[in-house]
Amino acid sequence: MANECYELKCSDLGTQCDYVAQGHTKDEMMERAVRHDAEVHNHKGGYSDEEMVAINAAVIHNQDC
Ligand SMILES: [Zn+2]
Repeated sequence: MANECYELKCSDLGTQCDYVAQGHTKDEMMERAVRHDAEVHNHKGGYSDEEMVAINAAVIHNQDC
């Protein structure tokens, strides 16, 4: 479990962007994804329930990376 990681592809959320947020915990990955979204896509102010469902559905959990 030591090398597990989480990934979230920006393009899976409907963008033309090739950014992939990665982290060894979901929180770490989400922190990077949220910062990327704010800096690159100017998305600030949080996420709706629908957006959170889409985000959670797009998260990839790798056991080894
Ligand atoms: Zn992006």
